[in-house]
Amino acid sequence: MRRAVCPGSFDPVTRGHIDIFERASLMFDEIIISVFHNPGKDKAMFSMEERVEMLKLATKHIPNVKVTAFSGLLNEFCVRENAPFIVRGLRAFTDFEYEFQRALLIKKIDTHLETVFIMTNAQYSFVSSSGVRELAAFNGQIKDLVPSCVEERIRQHVAKKL
Ligand code: ADP
Repeated sequence: MRRAVCPGSFDPVTRGHIDIFERASLMFDEIIISVFHNPGKDKAMFSMEERVEMLKLATKHIPNVKVTAFSGLLNEFCVRENAPFIVRGLRAFTDFEYEFQRALLIKKIDTHLETVFIMTNAQYSFVSSSGVRELAAFNGQIKDLVPSCVEERIRQHVAKKL
């Protein structure tokens, strides 16, 4: 069984992420989407539980997906899940530098782990969770950026904060 982990903050999940999951799901027997706490991104909009819930809703159509959350080191999570592959999406040059360093660091920690990059769909190359958060906070149009079930959740969340 070829298992891959798709780690990320997913705050919130976007159509760009979903596109990566759909394509990864064709390459592996099972993909494990896991919400990780990113210490560099402390201004979260949604709790880890809310993000997991939205990911579950938005990936219902992909049969070989498991959604979970993990606080700890990615390499330890991969070993625990028996998943030697890590899938990351790549947008622009700015992603490359960060992802390159991250992949080399993981390799240094555990040589059995392989990071696989999937190039963004041009349609979503400009889509980011931070952009969605910013637009949503000011009631901007996010319909084309996030799955419709997630859009609804975001709208409710923003309305509650007002
Ligand atoms: P992290 O905090 O780990 O960077 P993100 O949720 O921001 O988590 O992103 C998770 C992964 O999805 C990263 O590999 C990121 O480059 C990728 N990603 C984010 N948005 C897109 C997009 N629009 N197209 C392709 N990949 C994307």
